[in-house]
Amino acid sequence: MFIGGHGYSHKWLNAIGEEEKKFESEKTYQFLESLGVDKVMMTMCYPYGGYDQKLIDIIRESGYKCGLSTDKGIAKLTSEARFKLTRIDTNEII
Ligand SMILES: [Zn+2]
Repeated sequence: MFIGGHGYSHKWLNAIGEEEKKFESEKTYQFLESLGVDKVMMTMCYPYGGYDQKLIDIIRESGYKCGLSTDKGIAKLTSEARFKLTRIDTNEII
């Protein structure tokens, strides 16, 4: 089992201002810490798939290691793509 962040208030993180992005990032991080999640395993799964470059900059600075989008595709495991990880919905696999 793996536990990652999904925002503190479950908001569209690309639709809020910088200060609120920082708040969401920090509170989510603190929550994950309180659960005992190791610092090297901090991840963010963007609620509704909403993210932008400012959010990525903020969560990277906060110590997150990667971010999961709702963009479809096989994830590229590269340093530059790690905050825009794509996924495949199991409901779409026939
Ligand atoms: Zn959600």
